[in-house]
Amino acid sequence: MSKHRMNRRGFLAAGGVLAASGCQAQQGGGALPQVVSGPSDLPVLAEADVVVCGGGTAGISAAWAAARHGAKVVLIERWPSLGGMATNALVNIWHTSDRKKQVIYGFVQKAVERGGEYVRRFPDYPRRPETHDFDCEGMRVVFWRMLQDAGVRVICNLTAVESICRDGRILGVAVDTKRGRRSVMGRVVIDATGDGDVAANAGAPFELGRPGDGRVQGMTMMFCLRDIDHAALRQAGAKKAGEVLARMKALRDQGKFPPFNEGAAGHYLRTGPVHVPYNMCPATCNPLDEEELTRASARAREQVFEYLALWRKEMPGFAKARVTHMGFAIGVRESRRIKGLKQLTAPMVVKAVKQPDALGHGFWMIDIHDPMGSGHTTWTDQKPETMPPAGESYHIPLGMCLNAAVPNLAVAGRCAWATHEATASVRLQSHCMVMGQGVGTAAALALEGGVDMARVDVGKLQATLRKDGAYIENVPG
Ligand SMILES: Cc1cc2nc3c(=O)[nH]c(=O)nc-3n(C[C@H](O)[C@H](O)[C@H](O)COP(=O)(O)OP(=O)(O)OC[C@H]3O[C@@H](n4cnc5c(N)ncnc54)[C@H](O)[C@@H]3O)c2cc1C
Repeated sequence: MSKHRMNRRGFLAAGGVLAASGCQAQQGGGALPQVVSGPSDLPVLAEADVVVCGGGTAGISAAWAAARHGAKVVLIERWPSLGGMATNALVNIWHTSDRKKQVIYGFVQKAVERGGEYVRRFPDYPRRPETHDFDCEGMRVVFWRMLQDAGVRVICNLTAVESICRDGRILGVAVDTKRGRRSVMGRVVIDATGDGDVAANAGAPFELGRPGDGRVQGMTMMFCLRDIDHAALRQAGAKKAGEVLARMKALRDQGKFPPFNEGAAGHYLRTGPVHVPYNMCPATCNPLDEEELTRASARAREQVFEYLALWRKEMPGFAKARVTHMGFAIGVRESRRIKGLKQLTAPMVVKAVKQPDALGHGFWMIDIHDPMGSGHTTWTDQKPETMPPAGESYHIPLGMCLNAAVPNLAVAGRCAWATHEATASVRLQSHCMVMGQGVGTAAALALEGGVDMARVDVGKLQATLRKDGAYIENVPG
C-alpha cells in the first residue's frame, strides 16, 4: 500500500456543530475550539481522478457521469448500501414533469429504464410533477449495477472524516477503516454527502438552516404498514377517517398525542396503503449533532407506534395492522448549504429563471416542512406563489455546485448553494441527479482539459450533457 504525505486538519466536535472558516452563526452552539494536528502519513486506500463522497442520488449520478467520460472514479459511502435518502429513508418518488411535459431526462431517465420492474410511471403522467415511484430495495441493486457497468469503484462503510488539503486545493479525504485511518486521494473531489461534510472540513464557508434561528427543515421518519383490512376500511368510509383524524388533532393539541402531518395522515386513514411508505411522522433537530439526531430518530420511531396504537383502536381496517419497517435512517431534508459561485434563490425558482451555465431543469415548489417539527408543510397549502407556473421550469446552474474556496472541489445534491427556501425546491432527487450528472461531467471535462471546473467550456459541457440524454432548453445568450 502506498503512502501519501499530507497536512491533516482535525476538528474537535464534542457537543455541537463543526465550525468552518467563514460560516455564519449556527444553531446548536457557536464556534468550537479547533485542533490542528501536524503532518502525518496515511496509507492510501484508493486513488482516482475523481473521488465522490456520498452514495445518494447526487453522488451516484456524479460518479456515473464522470466515469462515462473516461475518469477513474472512486465513490465512498458511509452506509452499507447505495441510494442515500432514496433507499435508506424510504423516499421513493421521482418528479420529472413541469406538469405539462417531462423536463428531466439524462441520468434520471436511464435510472428509470434500468429500474425496469422496480420503477413505475404514474398513470396521470405528465400532468403532475410526481411521475414515478420505485421499490427502494430494487433500486439499491440497480444503482449498484449502474455504477459497476460504468466502471466506478464503490466502497461502502466508509465515512469521509477529514479533508486533506494543501495550498488551497483538496487532495483527498481521510477515512476510518477497521484497519485504522486511511486516505482516498483524487484530483477532483465531489462532495455529495448531503451534509457538505467534505467541503466544510476543507474550509469552504456554508450556511445552516433558515435565517434568524438557523433551524433546518423538519425531518420525517418514513414507515410501512401491513395487514390492513381494506374491506373494513371501505365500509367505514371517509367520514370515519375524518373523525379519527379530528381526534388525533384534538389529542395532539392537548399534548397527549405526537405531531403528525395532517394532510398525509387523512389520506392514509382513508386509503390504508400497504406498499407505500407513510410520510407523516415529523421530527426536528440539528442534523450535524449526532446525539440530537439519535434522540430525534428514536423519538420518531416511538411516534410511529403511537399513531398505530390509536388507529388500531379507533379506525376500522387497522385493527391488526403492523409496522413492517421504518427508514434505516430518518429522512433529513436540509443540512449545510455550501457557499458557491452562484446562489439559487426563491424568486429564481418561482419565476422560472434561466441560467447561462444550466445543467438542466427544476420545477418543484418551495416545499418547506416546518423546522419546529409540527408536521406542517407548504406542500399541503399548495399556494401558487410557491411554485413555477405549470409548463415552466427554472435552470439548475453549475455555479451553485462550485465554490471560490477550493477550485478542485464541487458539491452536488442538497448541500449545494441555495437559500433555505430555494433548497426546499432543488433538494428533490431528480433535481439532485441533474446536479450530479452535470458536476460529474464537468469534472471529467476539467481533467481532460487540464483546467479547474469553473473554467470548463460551458457550451461543451451542455453539448456533452445533451448527448448523454439531458434536457437543457432556453439557455440565455
Ligand atoms: C421524508 C422525505 C421525503 C422526501 N420526499 C421526496 C420525494 O417525494 N421526492 C424526491 O425526489 N425527493 C424527496 N425528498 C428529498 C430527497 O430525498 C433528498 O433531498 C435527496 O435524496 C438528497 O439526495 P443527496 O444525494 O443530495 O443526499 P442523500 O440522499 O442524503 O445522500 C447523501 C449520502 O452521503 C452519505 N454520507 C453522508 N456523510 C458522509 C461522509 N462523511 N462520508 C461518506 N458518505 C457520507 C450518506 O450516507 C448518504 O448516502 C424527501 C426527503 C425526505 C427526508
